[in-house]
Amino acid sequence: MSENSNDKVVKLRDVRRSFSQGDVQIDVLKGVDLDIRPNEIVALLGPSGSGKSTLLQAVGLLEGGFEGSIKLAGEETAQMSANGHTRIRRELLGFVYQFHHLLPDFSAKENVVMPQLIAGVSQEQADERADILLSSLGLEKRLDHKPSKLSGGEQQRVAVARALANAPKLVLADEPTGNLDEATADIVLMELMALVRDEGSAALIATHNERLAAKMDRVVRLHDGVLA
Ligand code: ADP
Ligand code: MG
Repeated sequence: MSENSNDKVVKLRDVRRSFSQGDVQIDVLKGVDLDIRPNEIVALLGPSGSGKSTLLQAVGLLEGGFEGSIKLAGEETAQMSANGHTRIRRELLGFVYQFHHLLPDFSAKENVVMPQLIAGVSQEQADERADILLSSLGLEKRLDHKPSKLSGGEQQRVAVARALANAPKLVLADEPTGNLDEATADIVLMELMALVRDEGSAALIATHNERLAAKMDRVVRLHDGVLA
């Protein structure tokens, strides 16, 4: 395959972000470069406070205040309007956070159906895809459970299914298993990786799990504001 910059799902160049607290300015990202290819699963490592969440917010177009170039699927997002960002988030991205952020009044299945309906998929197709995704995560007997009736691991699995509901080109996961006990965290993170692979998405996954990070396609480390 030819190496065209448009082949990259993510292309960051010299991305910078600083925060001011009173008189003090902290430079969190000091010139981050990162390329992610289609289907590539990249682990993002770095100690607490190193800027992992900030970097995921940059790629996820969730916050302003960044300098540098943020290209997603070939489109420069830096000068884009908020509407443009919303469109790209909807068409291209899926998110998994540390806390599940599921809609509490809706069942597991409805939580996975909802984003598809918003994207214009028919009810029938959305139902079918939700069943497939949730079943592939072992939740075929939990489809009608509300989040409060699910274990922490099950809740995160629903969040994973929801992130993949609209077949995103890129999944962004910010310590997706950071809130689970170690054994469950390992299983859910492996399931997330397997599902991302099956679906042919790329992913950027912030984690503290060195062992599972080593099983991803590539590991990048945030240190002193840049990626090593
Ligand atoms: P990580 O996810 O690796 O733990 P973060 O990206 O959350 O790191 O934070 C990196 C640094 O940026 C921290 O020092 C944090 O205090 C600071 N920071 C993050 N968000 C803000 C904000 N909105 N205002 C001020 N400082 C922030
Ligand atoms: Mg964080």
